[in-house]
Amino acid sequence: MASRRYPARQLYYDGEPRPSTAKRFFETIDPSTSKPLADVVCASPADVDAAIASASRAFPSWSKTPPAERARVLLRAVALLRARNDQLAAVETHDTGKPLSETSTVDVVTGADVLEYFANLVGGGGLNGETTQLREDAWVYTRKEALGVCAGIGAWNYPIQIALWKSAPCLAAGNTMVYKPSEVTPLHGQFLAELYTEAGLPPGVFNVINGGGDVGSYLTSHPRVAKVSFTGQVSTGQKVASSAAGGMKYVTMELGGKSPLIILPDVDLDIAVDGAMMANFFSTGQVCTNGTRVFVPKSLQADFEKRLLDKMQHVRMGDPTDMSTNFGPVVSAQHLEKVLGYIRHGIEVDKASLLCGGLKKPAAPSASADMGDGYWVQPTVFTNCKDSMRIVQEEIFGPVMCILTYEDVNEAVERANNTQLGLAAGVFTKDLNAAHKTVARLQAGITWVNSWGESPAEMSVGGWKMSGVGVENGRRGIEAWVRNKSTLVDMSGAVATAFSKL
Ligand code: NDP
Repeated sequence: MASRRYPARQLYYDGEPRPSTAKRFFETIDPSTSKPLADVVCASPADVDAAIASASRAFPSWSKTPPAERARVLLRAVALLRARNDQLAAVETHDTGKPLSETSTVDVVTGADVLEYFANLVGGGGLNGETTQLREDAWVYTRKEALGVCAGIGAWNYPIQIALWKSAPCLAAGNTMVYKPSEVTPLHGQFLAELYTEAGLPPGVFNVINGGGDVGSYLTSHPRVAKVSFTGQVSTGQKVASSAAGGMKYVTMELGGKSPLIILPDVDLDIAVDGAMMANFFSTGQVCTNGTRVFVPKSLQADFEKRLLDKMQHVRMGDPTDMSTNFGPVVSAQHLEKVLGYIRHGIEVDKASLLCGGLKKPAAPSASADMGDGYWVQPTVFTNCKDSMRIVQEEIFGPVMCILTYEDVNEAVERANNTQLGLAAGVFTKDLNAAHKTVARLQAGITWVNSWGESPAEMSVGGWKMSGVGVENGRRGIEAWVRNKSTLVDMSGAVATAFSKL
C-alpha cells in the first residue's frame, strides 16, 4: 500500500483494535489536497455482530457500576481529551479539511465539555428518580434505568464532537455503545476508543465499526440494539427511523436544516453582518444549524450588502493547518459537486443575483499557500432571492448565503416558518421585546438572539418538524438514554379489591 499520513485504522471492540473478517478497506481523503490519509478497515456483518456482542457482554456490569464511579472514568477521559486537544484537532483538520484554528478551539473542546457535563450530572445524582407520596401509607417512586446496547451514527461535519455528544450521555447513563462514524471522516473513531480505554473504560463499553450506509443500516436494524442516535440528512434519518420503528427502538434524530436569520430594522448592522457570516461561512458552511436564509429589511439591503462585501475580505483560505486560515475546503469531491450544482442552479435556473463567489475555483491567496487539488469552493452570496427558489428551499450544506428582503416583520416571520424544516432560527435586534416576541413565533428547536452557532453543553438542542426527534445536551439530554420505571408501594396491609363480597 502507498504511504499514508496515518496507519491503517481498525475496528475497535472488546477493548482493542480489531481487523475485519472480510479484509475490506476504504480510503479516507484529505479534502485540502485530495490525497489519501489512511486505509480504513470496513466492517462486515460478522464484525458488527462481534461489536454488538462485545457491547452486550459489557452492559450488565457497566450499567450496575455506581454513577459516581462511571463519572470518575469519564472525567479521566475528559482530562485526556484536553491534554491531547491539539493532536486530535490536527486529526480532525486532516480528515475534514476544517481549519486548525477551528478544530483546536471548538471541535474537541465542545466534545470534552459535554462529556464533563454528563459525568458531573450523573455523578451528582442526575439519574435519581422521584418520590411521590400518595397517601400516608402509599407512595410512588421512579427509577431511570439504562437501555442496553445503543447505536451511534455520526455525520462527517463534526466527527469527534458528534461521537462525544452521543457517547457522553449514553455511557454516563450506564449504556454501552457501538459507534459508526461517517466513512468520509472516520479517523477519530479509533483514537477516541483508545482514549476511553486508557481512561479506564471497561472493554466493550465503547466500540467502533467503520463502513458506509450498508454497515450503518445493518447496525441500526440489529435486534440487539435498544436505541439509535443518528446525526445526518433528513432522507437517511427517515430510513433509519423507519427501520428502528419496526423494533420499537428508542431514537434520537439530529437532522438537517434551512434556518432563517431575521435582521430587524433597528439592528446594529455590523453585528448583524458578523452574525450572518458566522451563520454561513464557519466550517465552510457545513454546519447543520446554518442561518442560510438571511431576511433583511428592504430599506437596509444596500447598506447590509456593502458591509458584508467589506467583511468578506476577512475570509482567509489556504493551508488548513496554518492558524491564520479561517476557511477550508468542503469535505469531499462528491460534496463539492453537490455544492457547485446548487450554485449553478442559483445562477442559471433560479436566476438569483450573485453578489460574490460563484463557480470559479478560488485562487490560492499566496504562492506559499498551495491549495493543490483540494475541494475548494468560494464563499458565495446570492441576493434578491425569492422563497420559491431551490437554493432557498433546500439544504445546501456549503458556504452559500441567500439574502431575502422583507417589508414587514410579520411577513418575515411567516416566510421564515414556511418550510418543512425547523432546526434553528435567530433574530438580530437592539429591541429586547421585539427579540423575545419574534423568537417565540419562530418554529425551530434551537434559537439565538444577537448570536449564532454557539451550542454549549448546558443547552439542549434538537430540531422541530422534519429536522429531528428529541434533543442532545443539557439536563434533558440524559432522558433520551434511560427508561423510566414507576413503582407504587402500598403499606396499608389491605388490597382495595372489588371482589371481597359475594
Ligand atoms: P448522511 O445522512 O449521508 O449520513 C449520516 C450517517 O449515516 C453516516 O455515518 C452515513 O454513513 C450513515 N448512513 C447512510 N445510510 C445509512 C443507512 N441506510 N442506515 C444507517 N446509517 C446510514 O449525512 P451526512 O454525513 O451527509 O451529514 C450531513 C447532514 O447531517 C446534513 O443534512 C446536516 O444538516 C446533518 N447534521 C445534523 C446535525 C444536527 O445536530 N441536527 C449535526 C450535523 C449534521 P456514510 O457517511 O459512511 O455513508
